[in-house]
Parts: sequence; structure tokens; C-alpha cells
Amino acid sequence: MPLNRRAFLHAAGLSATAAALTGCGGAHTTSPPRASGSAGAAHKLIGFPGLARKLSGPLVTPDKPGYHLARRSFNPLFDNRTPAAIAQCRRIEDVQACVAAAAAAGAPIAARSGGHSYAGYSTPDGALVADLSGLSSVLVNADGTAVIGAGARLIDIYTALGGAGRCLPAGTCPSVGIAGLTLGGGVGVVSRKYGLTCDRLVSATVVTADGTSRTVSASADPDLFWALRGGGGGNFGIVTSLTFDTVPAPQLTVFLLGFPAGAVPDVLGGWQDWIISMPDELSANCHIIGGSPPSCTVIGCYIGSARGLNPLLSGLIGRIGSQPTLRTVAEHGYLDGMRYFAGCSAKSAAECHDQASGRHWNREAFVASSRVLTAPVADPAQISSVFDGRTVFVIIDGLGGAISRVTSADTAFPHRGALALMQIYLRTSPADRAAAASSVVQMRDQLTGVVGGGAYVNYIDHTLPNWAHAYYGDNLTRLRQAAQRYDPDRLFTFPQAIANS
Ligand SMILES: Cc1cc2nc3c(=O)[nH]c(=O)nc-3n(C[C@H](O)[C@H](O)[C@H](O)COP(=O)(O)OP(=O)(O)OC[C@H]3O[C@@H](n4cnc5c(N)ncnc54)[C@H](O)[C@@H]3O)c2cc1C
Repeated sequence: MPLNRRAFLHAAGLSATAAALTGCGGAHTTSPPRASGSAGAAHKLIGFPGLARKLSGPLVTPDKPGYHLARRSFNPLFDNRTPAAIAQCRRIEDVQACVAAAAAAGAPIAARSGGHSYAGYSTPDGALVADLSGLSSVLVNADGTAVIGAGARLIDIYTALGGAGRCLPAGTCPSVGIAGLTLGGGVGVVSRKYGLTCDRLVSATVVTADGTSRTVSASADPDLFWALRGGGGGNFGIVTSLTFDTVPAPQLTVFLLGFPAGAVPDVLGGWQDWIISMPDELSANCHIIGGSPPSCTVIGCYIGSARGLNPLLSGLIGRIGSQPTLRTVAEHGYLDGMRYFAGCSAKSAAECHDQASGRHWNREAFVASSRVLTAPVADPAQISSVFDGRTVFVIIDGLGGAISRVTSADTAFPHRGALALMQIYLRTSPADRAAAASSVVQMRDQLTGVVGGGAYVNYIDHTLPNWAHAYYGDNLTRLRQAAQRYDPDRLFTFPQAIANS
């Protein structure tokens, strides 16, 4: 029977968090946001003389009618950001022209691929934004490598790769950009088998602060190649394309187990001991929905058949000690499985593409933070109690498997030995933003006492104390050296840039 995501979410009483279950937006925004005043008025207007003539796409400045649409990020909380201009890049030369123009003007510059930065770092006030959505081709080579433009969105990549019978481990949300995801690591539902997205990177083409376009790899600029695999977006240059080593597309069996309110300590306790003993083919995330008391689900996928998966799920249920109130298991081809996680099962490819990057971009206002679960916790009730009485959605992504067989020093992503990444995600609105942000900070800080101070740079949190160590651990020194070498004048800067650490 085909898995009907909406139906089971509804049955599980989870419809309010349906979008967040796949980590994707739910709100449609088709009309331009209202500006808080004259766009750009709060910041000194910076000009980029001659840049418009050098670009193959438009340079959208605040006086242009398309400005309000062009500056939008995934998160509507940043709709009032006022970049000096958005350069819609279609070629490497456009990116080089942007880098030169920003350097000449002494202006900040930021790359934007999918526009999902949690802190809005790809749409800074007063900056030149190099928008890479025009560089979004996906080319699958006969040897199984795929050359992907930096502005490609995940759903379009899955469509192209799936059509060619290939797979790249990457995130679930259809509109996330491949560049931001890869540069920070990239965790997905087949990562325990095939690694982080950055682990499949073979080479990347990047325009550095001196305007040079370099193709970096293990043998060319290896220190920059190392830094691009987990060192975080925006730090070392603007990536224009990425070449990945893909794998043959596997068959997937997806599942969801729903447990009643109050079961979180038992489920978390059972899950954390179970996941570390599971084969790489199995991924399972634990989702906690705040409340009084909180409830939770375990959702994931298995590379293989339902027959292979079911005994593994029985093992989990045995550890938890009580039966789930909801259990769904369904076999899918790879592309169908990824479309399911993207919330696209009931949509045509064109509809899903349009909602991931087009006129009907499915956006969502949220605040979020993260913590890293380095090892199983002694008392899972301590975690559950943090979310007691809270409105929040918590996604605990189990790591291990292939992710942990790369050492922390092999790439810039440091959390190789960790059990899981824990994301605290709260949907909100502009009016409730301050209260939501304060609630997230409280939950994050309470968790620090239970699980420690690590954090995932792709869930970047502009309020995080000691952020550089939290994101990069022992890799920070080498990352600072790479930033100093490739961007000595700090052209690529933002509040949590490595150069500012
Ligand atoms: C709804 C949602 C679901 C998510 N799901 C997952 C998931 O399943 N797994 C996971 O690991 N993460 C996930 N993330 C986190 C995501 O990986 C990060 O937010 C990532 O930074 C987004 O990349 P982007 O290109 O979309 O964002 P952007 O905002 O465009 O970029 C993010 C940062 O990278 C920089 N950057 C962007 N493009 C480039 C480039 N070409 N060269 C250099 N720097 C660049 C930007 O300046 C910015 O600082 C999710 C995020 C959201 C909002």
C-alpha cells in the first residue's frame, strides 16, 4: 500500500508539525513581502560601478521592481533585509565580476545558493548578494560522477540523479541549496550508508577573494578542499560548482513509528542504544514534539526490503518496552523515497520544483538552534523534561555508520564520533519572533548541561556562545589558517565567519 504521509501524520495527531517532520516549509508566499520603508533606506547605498554591464543576468538594486522578490530567503523573518544589490549569476565570470566589484567598493559580499541560512547570512543588509540560482545544472557522467551547479536545489538534484539511476546522500528538504548544505557537511536519510554530502565531494570550483576561479580537490589546493567539506558556507570563497561521486540508486523502505505522549524517555532511551548497533543500511531519527508531556516518533528508512527492516524495528520496540500507537512501513524506489521525505509524493515534479524554488516557493518562518549528542545520555528523562510544556519540534538525526568511519581531522566536519545531531526548531511569525527566539535559547542552554556544547554549523545560530568551537571543535585552527590564506583581507565576512572567530 502506498504510504500516505498526510494520512499517517493526521492519524498520529501530528498534522500541525507535518511540514517540520520532513524539515520543510509549509507556508506559501506568492506575493512580495511588504517593505518596512524604502528598501535600503536604513543602510548607506553602495554602488557597484560597471558591474551590471559585466553580468549575464540582472543586477537587482533596491530601485528595481523585482527587488522584493529577488531578496527573499527561505525564512520570511528575513524579508526586510536590505542588500545593496542582488546579482543573478549565470556564469563563473559573473561571480568573478561580483567579487571584484565588492572588493573595489569595500562592500560586504555573500553567496546565496538555496537561501536557507538560519541566520540569514546569505542576505545581509548592505551587501552585494551573488545569487547562484542561475547556476543549477545537474550533469551525470558515465563514470557515476555528477557535476552540480552551486545553486541547484535538492529536489531537482534527486530528480536528475534518480532519473539516471544514481544517488547522492543529502538532506530531505526540497528547496535546500546544494552548496550551503555541502559546505557545512550535509546529513540525510542515507548518510549512515553513504556518508555526509561533503564526503562524496570529489572537487569544487570556487572563486576566491583574489578573483581566481580554482578547481580544488585532494590534489589541487588540498587545504581549501579540506575546509570546504564542513567548514561552513560563506567562509573561503564562492563555490560555483561541485562534483560528487554518486552511488547506484538503492531501493528504500521508509517507516514511521508513533508513540503516545509521555513515552519520550523510554523511546529516546531505547532508540539511542539501538541505533548504534544497527547496520549502516538503517537510518532512524527521533522526533520530539514538545507538550505536556512531550510525545515522539521514530522516522527513517532502510536500504533494502520491508522484510529486512521489520525485525530491526521489532528490536527497537522491544528495547522501548511498549508498542507504538502508529506503525507505517512502505517500500519505494530511490526517487520516490526522496520525494516522500521532501513532502512531494502527491505532487508532480513540476509542482514540486515550483514550490522549491519558483513562484510558489514554500517558505517558513522559524527560529532554531542545535546541540550535538556525543554519546547516549545516562538519563533520557533529562532531555524530555527540557521540552515539557514547550511548543517546539526537535529533530534528532542519528549519525554513525559511514559518517563515523571518516576521522574528525579528515574533513572540516568535526562531529564524526557523535551519536546524533539535535535540532530545536520552532515555527513562528514575525510578531512572535522575539518570544520564540528566547524560548529556543532557553531550551538550547538547558540542553548544554545535559549533552554538552557542540553544534552543527548548518543549523547556524547567531546567538550561540563560543560558536566557533561549538561548530568546528579541534578543526578550528586549521580552518582559520585556510581563511587567512585564501581571504587575507576578509572580503567574505559575516558575524560568525571563521575569520572573526
Ligand atoms: C527547512 C530546512 C531543512 C533542512 N534540512 C537539512 C537536512 O536534511 N540536512 C542538513 O544537513 N541540513 C539541513 N538544513 C540546513 C541546511 O543545510 C543549511 O541551512 C544550509 O546552509 C542551507 O544551504 P542553502 O544553500 O540553502 O542556504 P544559503 O542561505 O544560500 O547559504 C547558507 C550559507 O552558505 C553560504 N553559501 C551559499 N552558497 C554558497 C556558495 N556557493 N559558496 C560559498 N558559500 C555559500 C551563504 O552565504 C550562507 O552563509 C535544512 C535547513 C532548512 C531551513
